[in-house]
Amino acid sequence: MQTVIGRYEERDLPVPRAASGEVVLRIRAALTCGTDLKLLARGHPKIALPVTMGHEACGEIVEVGEGVAGFRVGERVVPGVSGPCGVCADCRAGRENLCADGHADRMWGTFAEFVRVPAGVVKANLHRVPEDLSDTVAAFLDPLASVLHGWNRLTHRGTRFLIYGSGALALLWTLVVRGRGAHATVAGRRPDRLRLAASLGADALDVAGGAPGRFEADVAIDCTGETQIWARLPDLVRPGGQVLLFGGCAPGASVAYDATRLHYSEISLLGSFHSTPREAREALEALASGLVDPRPLIAETGRLSDLPRFLEAQQKGRGLRYAITSE
Ligand SMILES: [Zn+2]
Ligand SMILES: [Zn+2]
Repeated sequence: MQTVIGRYEERDLPVPRAASGEVVLRIRAALTCGTDLKLLARGHPKIALPVTMGHEACGEIVEVGEGVAGFRVGERVVPGVSGPCGVCADCRAGRENLCADGHADRMWGTFAEFVRVPAGVVKANLHRVPEDLSDTVAAFLDPLASVLHGWNRLTHRGTRFLIYGSGALALLWTLVVRGRGAHATVAGRRPDRLRLAASLGADALDVAGGAPGRFEADVAIDCTGETQIWARLPDLVRPGGQVLLFGGCAPGASVAYDATRLHYSEISLLGSFHSTPREAREALEALASGLVDPRPLIAETGRLSDLPRFLEAQQKGRGLRYAITSE
C-alpha cells in the first residue's frame, strides 16, 4: 500500500513478538502528543513510514524475550522513548539524552493493542509503575521527564519563571515550577489555555497582540518552537537570566540575537532536548507522589476507535491531550 504523509488509517497487524532483550506490552493507556501530529503532518527524517503512531503509554507486559532480566509477565510498566547505550562518551558523562545509539531503535507505536519495546529501552529506560498510580497518569512519564530535564539544565533558577506557550508541555512546566515553589507566568494567545494555566496557579499573560517589550523573569522557557519567540526571550529575562530553548523549531531554522544584550547582560541560552533515564524515574516519582498532577490536561478519555476523532480535535487545537484506554 502506498504511504502518504498526512493520511492514517486503522489496520490489522500481527501481534508483535518479543525478540531477544525485548518485551511486548498490551497497552493500557496511551496519550496523544503534538509529536504524533507533527509526524503525521510532515513525516520525520528518522522514522520510516508507514508507522504506528503513539509513544506515551502505560502497558502490561505480556511477553518477555530471551535474556531480559528484572521484568516479568503481568507487570505494569511505562517505557521511555529512547534506550541509551550506557557506554558512549555522552552516556558516561550523564548525557544519555544525547546518546546517538539511544535513538536508533526508538519506542514507537502505542496507538495499538500491543507494542514491542526495543531491547535498548528495556535495558535502560523501562519503568515499573507503582501500584496506586493510574495508567493514564503514568503515561505522562515521557513529557514530564523532558520538563525535569529542562529544569535540571538550569544552573540558577531564581523565583520568577516566564513560560512562553500554552500547550501541554507549557502547562506541565507550570505544574513543576509551581510544585517547586517558584512563581510562573504563562504567556499564550488562547483565552481557554490561559484560563487553564491560571487554574494551575500561574499568572496568565495574553500575548495575542505580540510579545511584551520587557519582562523581568529570572528564567524564560520557550515552549513554542517559534524562532521569533526564541529571538525575543533574552529581552524578557533580567540581567544574568537564563533562556531555556525547550520547544524544538522546524529543521533548518535559524535565529538572530542581539549580541550586545547577550554579552553585557550575561544572558545564557540553554538548549534542552529529551531526558535521561534518571529523569524518567524522577518523573514517575513526581507523578506517584502527586507532586505533579497532570489530569487537568486531559481533554477526554476514550478507546482506540476514538483516535481519529481525537487526532482531528487536537490538530484543530481543541484539547491538549487525549487518553486512550483499554478498560
Ligand atoms: Zn510526546
Ligand atoms: Zn550512549
